[in-house]
Amino acid sequence: MAIWNLGSINADMVYSVPRLPRPGETLASDGLRYFLGGKGANMSVATARAGARVHHIGAVGHDGKWAVDRLMEYGVDTTHIATVPEPTGHAIIAVEPGGENSIILYPGANHAISADALGLALSSAQAGDILLLQNETNRQEDAARIGRDLGLRVCYAAAPFDAGAVRALLPWLDFLILNEVEAGQLEAATGKRPEDLPVKQVIVTMGARGARYIDTEKGESRDFPAMPVTPVDTTGAGDTFTGYVLAGMDRGLPMPQAIGLASRAAALMVTRQGTADVIPDLKDVNEARF
Ligand code: ATP
Repeated sequence: MAIWNLGSINADMVYSVPRLPRPGETLASDGLRYFLGGKGANMSVATARAGARVHHIGAVGHDGKWAVDRLMEYGVDTTHIATVPEPTGHAIIAVEPGGENSIILYPGANHAISADALGLALSSAQAGDILLLQNETNRQEDAARIGRDLGLRVCYAAAPFDAGAVRALLPWLDFLILNEVEAGQLEAATGKRPEDLPVKQVIVTMGARGARYIDTEKGESRDFPAMPVTPVDTTGAGDTFTGYVLAGMDRGLPMPQAIGLASRAAALMVTRQGTADVIPDLKDVNEARF
């Protein structure tokens, strides 16, 4: 089986500044670090590091070849990443010495995925494969419809939260994953708690308190604890968790086992500084002692 991830690809440009600039002010930065980011790219890397075969569907600009090369190096199939006239999606992140930051996010190429490119990519998918969607690209609803028609398992990580997107996608979903803040926003937008949604399987992640798995068909839910670690940087914990859960589903693992692995992978991730580049692989996850 395989995973098809319609997802964002970003350049995260992190500028060190003595303090955040005021309106009208020009401020020199004394350091620039460049990272691969975007929820989509993070999740593709996580699924690949977890041992799954993952095809990323997305777009970069002419300035984005490095990002595609990096994904390929990390084991992601990049055949269906188009190069478009828009610039590669990017985040301009200014960080003060204490860690306070300000971020400008420009979706660029992530919002320029064409219907033809999407259709062509999914024409290679097989019934039973997993289709993964988030909220940082265009065409999620088209993808969900096509995915359902092809017999794919349609999975959605509802982040960053968007009430309109969630409402549009709910009828097509087999699996939904979201954090507890997003679960609250979803309830406010739809009037439904996760257990009442028309989706077979739902996971609500709760940071250091672990994750709740809800099987809505059986009307059962079960809580899974997080591993005890001292966090260094929680960025990317959710994306790592999602990637590992989906890779487990793709391998046919029972859900408790997939969530157990995902909890270990995400715990290891929060002990590391960075995003896509430092997502742990299956060997590190299996060898970790908590
Ligand atoms: P982010 O946006 O920071 O990537 P998120 O809000 O989508 O994350 P969380 O619910 O914070 O997702 O975390 C996802 C999973 O990661 C949790 O269910 C848990 O298993 C693990 N995790 C997160 N924070 C910690 C922590 N401090 N210690 C151990 N595990 C953690």
